[in-house]
Amino acid sequence: MTTWRLTRRHLLQGAAGAMVVPYFFSAAPKVLAAEFTLPELPWAPDALQPLMSKETIDFHYGKHHAAYVTNLNKLLPGTPYENMSLEEIVQKAPPGPIFNNAAQVWNHTFFWNCLSPKGGGEPKGKLADAIEEHFGSFADFQQQFTDTAVKLFGSGWAWLARDKDGKLSIEATSNAGTPLQAGKTPLLTCDVWEHAYYIDYRNARPKFVEAFWKLVNWDYAASL
Ligand code: MN
Repeated sequence: MTTWRLTRRHLLQGAAGAMVVPYFFSAAPKVLAAEFTLPELPWAPDALQPLMSKETIDFHYGKHHAAYVTNLNKLLPGTPYENMSLEEIVQKAPPGPIFNNAAQVWNHTFFWNCLSPKGGGEPKGKLADAIEEHFGSFADFQQQFTDTAVKLFGSGWAWLARDKDGKLSIEATSNAGTPLQAGKTPLLTCDVWEHAYYIDYRNARPKFVEAFWKLVNWDYAASL
């Protein structure tokens, strides 16, 4: 379990808040609400330059990802999902705004972890063996993943996922879709919404996917 998945912040009032909270609010410690927070990036916003600009990160993380968190927190109170973990919401919420925002929060946090300024190259160890076993070779896998990412129509995500039996698959999901919905474990993703690449590559999604391969964090994928 990676720590970023635990993104709820419990807003406590009581003893700890006594210095700043008026006395009539601080009578007893009480959990007021649970909110999701925007997880920190695993690297500095300019660390992926020039392949992914700070401007892209400022918008993609600072505006888009942040907005999904804000929207989710506004949508949850009073629903059956308000005390669930992010993964539970993604797996249980029906199609609609709660699912869309929860999944986009999860997908983006996962995506940032799939990138690294020290990324690129090929996976090692067991993941390398599994990719070779399922796709023939790393080059074949990379080609198939690239095709999936480039050809996905409209907004969505390309994934490498593993099912309960250990079988790997390359998947395309539209909009906020994720292999988590099918009970699979995501190992890698590439965000192919236009907001992921329009600042740096305009409409040239293939060039963005090329950059993705130079940033891909195989150590993270192998840890899952
Ligand atoms: Mn995005």
